[in-house]
Amino acid sequence: MEEYDVAIIGYGPTGATLAHLLADTGLKVLVLDRESKHYHLPRAIHFDAEVMRTFQWIGIADEIEPRTATHPGMRFVDAEGKLLLDWPRPQGEGPQAWRANFRFHQPDLEDVLRKRMKLRHQVTTRTRCEAFHVDDLGNKVELRFEDMSAGVVERVRAKFVVGCDGARSLVRRFIESEMEDYGFQERWLVIDVILNQNKPELGEHTIQYCVPGRPATYVRTPGLRRRWEITVLPEENSDEMIKHEQVWNLLSDWLKPEEAELERTAVYVFHSLLAKDWRKGRLIIAGDACHQTPPFMGQGMCAGIRDVANLYWKLALICKDIVASEEADTLLNSYETERKSNAREYIHTAVRLGGLINTAGTEEALRAALPSRDGSARMESIAPPLGPGLGIGKNSGLLFGQPRMSDGTRMDDVFCHQWVVVCDKILADDLELPAGVGLVTSENSNAAEHLAKMATRATILRPDRYTIGTAETTQELKELIASILPYSKFNKQKEKA
Ligand SMILES: Cc1cc2nc3c(=O)[nH]c(=O)nc-3n(C[C@H](O)[C@H](O)[C@H](O)COP(=O)(O)OP(=O)(O)OC[C@H]3O[C@@H](n4cnc5c(N)ncnc54)[C@H](O)[C@@H]3O)c2cc1C
Repeated sequence: MEEYDVAIIGYGPTGATLAHLLADTGLKVLVLDRESKHYHLPRAIHFDAEVMRTFQWIGIADEIEPRTATHPGMRFVDAEGKLLLDWPRPQGEGPQAWRANFRFHQPDLEDVLRKRMKLRHQVTTRTRCEAFHVDDLGNKVELRFEDMSAGVVERVRAKFVVGCDGARSLVRRFIESEMEDYGFQERWLVIDVILNQNKPELGEHTIQYCVPGRPATYVRTPGLRRRWEITVLPEENSDEMIKHEQVWNLLSDWLKPEEAELERTAVYVFHSLLAKDWRKGRLIIAGDACHQTPPFMGQGMCAGIRDVANLYWKLALICKDIVASEEADTLLNSYETERKSNAREYIHTAVRLGGLINTAGTEEALRAALPSRDGSARMESIAPPLGPGLGIGKNSGLLFGQPRMSDGTRMDDVFCHQWVVVCDKILADDLELPAGVGLVTSENSNAAEHLAKMATRATILRPDRYTIGTAETTQELKELIASILPYSKFNKQKEKA
């Protein structure tokens, strides 16, 4: 029976990104998907700089970036078109060494993820293969799947099985996890169009039309693609709503049928769900299998990419026997405890936003919910910390920026998949670092700017670029370094493509 380090069920963006990350660490990986191709219609249309940074680690950022569009921001307007809230997004390079937000076409991303996977000799991808049974044997997992192209049932073994198998996850069922439900459940009609030619008056901003009874969202996506998301009222029939005549009726304020082609119309039920358990023994879940959010923040897929950025190096440390078994359990437990509260915060914020869009008297509601000093409403992007896990003391579990080295290189291109000590020059003197741990200082980079944002002199970054803690003195930094010793041997083993 073929044996793997990790078997991934689901070749969506979460599973594909995890496979790339694990392959970078030298693990032998199997990816299964029941479909023959990736989903060809648009779903996610936004991701953020943290996600782009993960794409940078797996070497696809440069190919993805030209296929994205900029995101100037989101505006909330009322039924008369009056501006209620302006939420501009920063332009230019931000703290992650990428611009803050990217609009994209999900099939473009999945194309690149799959195309690049072909260069990974350690990853076996099997499409038209449906997993139907997993059996945790204690020291490994036996996985059964049907190769639907041949009608043959096969068995493989892996040290871990990760279910990146979407909202109706099979692995979640084997884990027997219940879902926490934050109460948002609404039907929205999603309309994707391709314009025949550019129509600049539609604008570059995302617009939230806060029209009580029929809230809607407009998003400018790359090229000539445009997206509308429109509430479906309780008495309306989903099948009727997607009929083209009805769709053009709903779009009549913006577009005429001769101006664009409908690429896709579908009614989705947006949920706000979080799995209670993300792991049982050697079975783990990630992505939509763990959490589902209304798309108002554009963060569903982003959360899945964050999951696997948190998970991959922990799995690599365990599969390569770098950590002892007690530490292995601590590491794996930290995946759920760290990620869950971060994912929950995004879901809560999206639910809150959804509620505000749908409130009669939105202007007052926005001001009350998102107050600013001048009395108007103000909205900012969030970056919730990780929940309790491996971090130590204050300033732990925070996403750190990506310094530029003195020669302009991004830090992660130099120290990819490594632990990194970032500190001011004085603390770096006489510092003894464990083998494989990178050192970025105020002398060899612009680290000082990043440390100043955290009001600290030193920090240690995990491979996923969250802080393990901070230090103000040489002694504190030495103690922080001692705390990472069990894990610091995690290192880059880039597969030669
Ligand atoms: C209208 C809409 C708008 C959205 N907008 C955004 C946005 O702007 N930004 C954002 O970040 N997110 C957004 N999302 C969410 C985003 O699309 C999803 O979060 C993302 O696709 C989830 O990726 P995944 O890999 O976890 O799961 P999926 O993409 O669902 O992939 C799961 C895969 O598992 C396979 N599978 C399932 N069961 C089995 C099995 N038993 N055996 C083998 N294979 C199996 C499936 O075939 C599928 O390929 C949006 C979603 C929608 C619907």
